[in-house]
Amino acid sequence: MKYTELQESVFEANIALGNTDLVVMTWGNVSGISEDRTVMAIKPSGMSYNEMRPHHMVLVEIDSGKVLEGDIKPSSDTLTHIHLYTSFPTINAIAHTHSVSAVSWAQACRPIPAFGTTHADTFYGPVPVTRPLSEDEVNSAYELNTGLVIAEHFSQNGIDPTAIPAVLVASHGPFTWGADPMKAVENSIVLEEVAKMAMNTLLIEQATKAVPGYLLDKHYFRKHGPGAYYGQG
Ligand SMILES: [Zn+2]
Repeated sequence: MKYTELQESVFEANIALGNTDLVVMTWGNVSGISEDRTVMAIKPSGMSYNEMRPHHMVLVEIDSGKVLEGDIKPSSDTLTHIHLYTSFPTINAIAHTHSVSAVSWAQACRPIPAFGTTHADTFYGPVPVTRPLSEDEVNSAYELNTGLVIAEHFSQNGIDPTAIPAVLVASHGPFTWGADPMKAVENSIVLEEVAKMAMNTLLIEQATKAVPGYLLDKHYFRKHGPGAYYGQG
């Protein structure tokens, strides 16, 4: 079958996410989009990590939101994922968790400031938080509207989703993304760590300010873009 490789990579990323301490119960999901951006594979709804196999990754058509085949229900967050893929053409995979520290910032409706180089290595600026969804937006097309407020925040504030591969949905939690499913999971792990560090930083010194632009630039561009020199190339 045509999308076997996509299902395999999405499966492996879901298992990797399930093996972190970011996910309890089945509160997490990863998806990935096909190269031609017509189909995504996403974790099935509420299926335990033990029983999950690659062929359970549900194939959903991006245009229609319809399941391509089989009768397994996709993650309830499917329409959020679809909206992010159509709004952010540079991203190929998405992860969602309810990890404790990132959720804590989301519940406080506060962006995570770039307090240090750990943050700047992955996120080129504060990790933003969306506006709250209105009562109408919650009561109708909730999951689609969740994607909508994310895309709205990035476009209204001129944020490049490649430079900041994460967001906090107000009163809900984090979504991260990346070039492939494993990278989206990695960004969830980094986000949780920087969320924890930022919280501890404020506990020690409430007046802490974000790092200066020159340090943010140094660390971000050491790892990203044409001048990157970190790692083994
Ligand atoms: Zn959620």
